[in-house]
This record gives sequence, structure tokens and C-alpha cells, in this order.
Amino acid sequence: MAGARRPGRNFLFVPGPTNVPDRILRAMHVPMEDHRSPDFPSLTIPLFSELKKVFQTKHGQVVVFPASGTGAWESALTNTLTPRDKVLAPRFGQFSHLWIDLARRHGLEVIVQEEEWGTGANPDRIEEVLRDDKAHEIKGVMVVHNETATGVTSDVAAVRRAIDAAQHPALLYVDGVSSIGSIDFRFDEWGVDLAITGSQKGMMLPAGLGIVCASQKVLAKMQDAKCTRAYFDLADQFNANANGYFPYTPALPLLYGLREALTMMFEEGLENVFARHRFLAGGTRAAVDAWGLSLCAKEPKWHSDTVSAIMVPEGFNGADVIERAFRRYNLALGAGLSEVAGKLFRIGHLGDLNELMLLGAISGAEMSMRDVGIRVEPGSGVAAAQEYFRTANGAADQRLAAE
Ligand SMILES: *Cc1c(COP(=O)(O)O)cnc(C)c1O
Repeated sequence: MAGARRPGRNFLFVPGPTNVPDRILRAMHVPMEDHRSPDFPSLTIPLFSELKKVFQTKHGQVVVFPASGTGAWESALTNTLTPRDKVLAPRFGQFSHLWIDLARRHGLEVIVQEEEWGTGANPDRIEEVLRDDKAHEIKGVMVVHNETATGVTSDVAAVRRAIDAAQHPALLYVDGVSSIGSIDFRFDEWGVDLAITGSQKGMMLPAGLGIVCASQKVLAKMQDAKCTRAYFDLADQFNANANGYFPYTPALPLLYGLREALTMMFEEGLENVFARHRFLAGGTRAAVDAWGLSLCAKEPKWHSDTVSAIMVPEGFNGADVIERAFRRYNLALGAGLSEVAGKLFRIGHLGDLNELMLLGAISGAEMSMRDVGIRVEPGSGVAAAQEYFRTANGAADQRLAAE
């Protein structure tokens, strides 16, 4: 199909990159300019303060790297830790796995807590390990807030309570790549020390920005951290950012896009953005129920509002559904990664999205499943989502959105 014209819109429903709204595309269509000009800080200084609102922090400090989420992972760890430091990390999906792998490559000793894929961080187990660490050798706890591979959201506030209950000084590191800007995320209230995200998911931008938010506690500790860092040094960024500049050439169009994205998020209202994601996820889950299928997430408490990972029945391959959807219906669905490869497909429902767009994806997924022989009732998922969106259940969530 490569090269062949495909009329109409591509339905992009992978959980990142997400749809970039036309307003943002236009905002990024700018000529290049001198990033050392006296005018430049008038673009950047407000960006840093507006970004803090997305993290819901007053005291944290936000840095924007020309990178992706993975670069932000690296920055968070290398600026605060020393090789052979111990960190504790629950693993329950491909993204928690990759972050652990990155930590190990930097010489950190990761104590991995295996959790069943489809569940998330277990605060009780975290508390237990921290209580046993009387010498306080564990320097940090790394948690993926929203595990994009399995559609599982963990309770970060509960992880903070576990750390405090153990009276342990470990820093709390949170990957919020597929949650921040889509699912409620409270940096200050939850006592997060380092939170990271990327531009191409809830922020509605192309990939290319890695965003790190650091607490005051972290700023004080950075000097003692001996991991090698250069490009991702937070101190270099803080120094240059203080006057509205960057230590190297920033990704200019993305910064203009970011300004527009933030404007759009605050026009809608952050609370409404969260409620919309909850609402859209509810409709998706209604469709999954009606298909008689189950989510990878084992219990409602793990349900993600930004991505649904849908198990295909025994004897079928999720990759076939995805391939069919792409080739026949111009619909991009997310694949099952590593341990769950072939066992599921994912619908990303985050970013710039509404009910009818999502109904298109649900419809395409339904047709593709039938095409590969999965026996779902024609129209069942679409109908369930439609009813959810127009009736009681959905309306309750939407009232929340209007408040
Ligand atoms: C997408 C994603 C990442 C990786 O980010 P890149 O921007 O691809 O480097 C990390 N963590 C989570 C939870 C993600 O969803």
C-alpha cells in the first residue's frame, strides 16, 4: 500500500503519537528565529510557568529537552543518582520494563518488584521493602503512572503514602508520559520528586520534547549525584532557563506548538480534560463489554482513561486485527508489546479526541475483528459506546466535565 493514496483521514488510535489539532499544526508553522534574541524569553518564560500548572505544582521546576520521553527518563535518573545506587521499581508492562533497563544501563542497581501484567504498583509491597531497608540504601522508587502497554493506571498517591509510612527518604520518580495532561496528576500533593512526560501523547504535539519536573528537594540533591550526564544535565537547563534561554538550540516550532497546546488545555480547563478522558474511556470499555471481551487490566481500579488494551480470544492473534484495521480501514491501533504480543490490541483514547472520532475507531476495530474471524456481534460495541455517550452513565461523567 505504501505510496498509494488513501482518501479521507487516517484514524490514528495508537496511544501516542496522538492527533495533532489543526490549531497546533498552524502554530508550529513558523519561520526560524534567533533563539538568543532579546525577544525569545517572551515565548519561553510563560511556557515554563504554564507547564507547572499541567503538573499541578507550585514548587516544582519544569525543564523541556529536545528529546522524547526516554530522554526525560534518563535525565530524571542521572541527575539525582550515583552508579550502584539502589532503586526500587515495580514492573508490570513494557514501559516499566524499559525504564528499569535504562536505569541498569546507567549502572544503577534496580530491585525489581514483579507484578502481574494487567495490575500495577503495589503500595503494600513497596512499603514492606522500604521498611526492611533500615540503612536507607534505596535511593528512589520508580513508578510508571499509566502503563501504556497494558492500559493500567497505578495509584501514585498511595505509593507516596507507602514511602512515608515506612519513614523512608527515597525519592519518588514517576513516568507520566501517557497520563500527564490527560489523567489527574498532582505533583505537589502526591509528593512526587521527579515526574517526566513527552510531547506526543496527552500534550497533543509531535514527538520531540522530553519534559521533566523536579521538586525542590531534588534541586538540593543534584550536586551529589555522580551519574554521567551532559546533554541531559538539569543544572545547565535551569541556569539557561532562568533568563528564558536554552543551553543549546531548542526545537523552536515545538515550543510554539507547546504554547498553543497549553492554551487549548486551559481553554477547556484541566478538570474538563481529565473528565473528557474518563468519559471517552468509559465508552470504550462499554464497547469491550458488549463484544464479550476483556481488558488486560485485571480490575476496574487499574482501568486507564487514556488507553484500553483489549484481549483477543484464545486462538486469535491481535496483530492480525491491527494489520487488517490498517490495511482495510486506514485505522492505526496499538500492538501488544513483548509479553502480551499478539494477545491484545490497544485503542489509544487520549489527546485531541471526541466521541464520534472514537466511535470510528471502535467501529473499525469491530469490523477488523470480524474480518479475522473473531465472533463479535456486528454493531454491538459501537451501539454500547453510543448509548454510553448519550445516556445516564456517560452523562454523569459529562456533568462532571461541565462543572
Ligand atoms: C510513550 C511512553 C514512553 C516512551 O516515550 P518516548 O517518547 O517514546 O521516548 C515512556 N513511558 C510511557 C508510559 C509511555 O507511554
